[in-house]
Parts: sequence; C-alpha cells; structure tokens
Amino acid sequence: MSAIILDGKLKANEIKRNLRQEIGRLKALSGRIPRLAALQVGDETSFSVYVNSQKKAAYEIGIDYRLVKLPSDCTEKCLLDNILSLNNDKGVSGIILQSPLPAAFDIVKISSFISSNKDVEGVNPENKGKLLLNSYKVVPPTASAVMELIGLSGISLKGREAVIIGHSGIVGKPIAMLLLDKLCTVTVCHIETHKRGNLLEHIKRAEVLIASAGKPNLVKGEWIRENAVVIDVGINRVEDKIVGDVEFGKALLRASYISPVPGGVGPLTTTILMRNCVELFKNQGNTG
Ligand code: NAD
Repeated sequence: MSAIILDGKLKANEIKRNLRQEIGRLKALSGRIPRLAALQVGDETSFSVYVNSQKKAAYEIGIDYRLVKLPSDCTEKCLLDNILSLNNDKGVSGIILQSPLPAAFDIVKISSFISSNKDVEGVNPENKGKLLLNSYKVVPPTASAVMELIGLSGISLKGREAVIIGHSGIVGKPIAMLLLDKLCTVTVCHIETHKRGNLLEHIKRAEVLIASAGKPNLVKGEWIRENAVVIDVGINRVEDKIVGDVEFGKALLRASYISPVPGGVGPLTTTILMRNCVELFKNQGNTG
C-alpha cells in the first residue's frame, strides 16, 4: 500500500485563510496591521528564493513585509544598530534575520540582540529557554511546521518511538523538545551517529521519523519501519531538482504517512513564520 501524503501546501493555505481573517479583525480593532522586517546582509542569490516566498505569503495574508538590505561588508556594529532600530520601531511587529550571515558574524550573538517580543524565528536565547521550559511565545517555524504535519496524520504521539536525524538549534533540537512534550520517546541522531554506522539501527525503530540532515536520499526506503510517519525536512538541490533526505519513491511503500519535498515542510514553514508575526503583533497589544 502507498503512504498518504501529508500536504504542506494545503495546510498552509488553510492557515493563511485564517490569518487573513484574523488580521482583518485586528485591523478593525486597532487600525493597524502587522509589519515583518527582514534583515539581509549581502546579496547572495540563494536569498531571493526565501525572500520571494516570504513576500508572497505576507502579501496573501495581509502583513506588511519590509526587506532591509545591508551590504556584505557591513560591520557587526552596523548590523546590531539596524536590529536595535527595528526593536525600537513601534511600527515593526516581527524581525527575521535572513541566513546565512557572512561567516565573520557570530549568529548566536547577533540573534540575542533581536528583541524576544519581535523574534518571529524563536532564535533569541530567552525564547529558546522558554521552549525548554514549555512556556514559549514562539516556536521556530520549521519545528512548528513538522508538528503540524504530524498532526495531520491524526496519530496519537504518546509513548511513540520518535527519531530525529539532525540536531541543529533551529530544526532538530526544538523538534525534540516538542515531541518530548507529547510524551514520545525521542532519539536524536547526528553526524557522529552516522560516522559510527548506527543510523540504520535507530531509524528502523522509528514510528515517527524526522529527517533533517540536509543530505539527499540519506534515508533509504527499506530502512523505514512499516507504517511509520515520515517527515522530510531536507532541502537539497540535485541537478535541476529539489529533493529531500528520504528516498521518497521507496519510502512511500513502507510509511503510513509521508511529507513530500517540495510541498511538505517548506510552504508550511513560511506560513508559520507569518503566524508567529501575527501572534507577536497581538502580544504587543494590538487587539483593540
Ligand atoms: P544544519 O547543517 O545546521 O544541521 C544538519 C544536522 O544534520 C546536524 O545535526 C548534523 O550533525 C546532521 N547530519 C549531517 N549529515 C548527517 C548524516 N550523514 N547523518 C546523520 N546526521 C547528519 O542544517 P539545518 O539548518 O538543521 O537544516 C537541515 C536541512 O533542513 C537542510 O537541508 C535545510 O535546507 C533544511 N531546512 C528546511 C527548512 C524548511 O522550511 N523546509 C527549514 C530549515 C532547514
């Protein structure tokens, strides 16, 4: 039997519709709409894909999207001054720092300067700590998108074996926290798991598998446990195509639910970024 596809676009459209209504309601009450400021350092071509999809989603929902471009030779002080000015700007509800930053920047340090009240990506240390304490305002959008997709499957997570491949601060680690909160038994694998040759041993136990290593077709279809729910976060360019971390065709035959790449986590992540912006806008008192 073939797995059921977890359609990120469909879910994203539903969330967008609700957000559009919500913003209409908030505008009627407060006379304002949320504004998302995106800071970009340098002019790498890879930025345009993210910026264009953010712009489009913001437009569809009714969020005012402003791109602030800084030159690639901008200093740390210049970047921090820009962040502080956006923090202090009452018209700005949310701030996103486009990645990658040029190598000279310390991303953890820079992120800590984004006001926790405007941090749409959940990268400020205060917000990361709140995730740990289960008292968060915003969840990193990709982690939130993964939870939404798992939710579409309708499975109960309590006591399930969940395996995450990848332990980054914006993807693997927050997903691990959110799955723990759902009382899953969580295993987080990473490059050293792979180097020791132990990846397969963990993957074959997974009732819920999250692949976020950024390695095309790392997870072989036959490794997947029968009836597992598989969420593929990876975005890898292979020749002219975008593929995930999971061997999709073969995985389809073993999983019960699977998210495709493209069309799974990606479109939902951008939409949830916008949802975070609306939540912060409300927290800032724009409710009438
Ligand atoms: P990252 O490079 O920060 O982290 C990669 C993680 O994978 C690390 O924990 C690393 O140890 C692990 N890893 C690398 N190779 C491995 C291997 N062979 N076996 C096991 N583990 C391995 O990357 P990231 O920012 O977490 O992103 C991961 C992937 O998710 C990338 O493809 C990225 O493009 C994609 N991504 C997608 C979205 C989305 O919206 N769909 C958002 C963020 C990231």
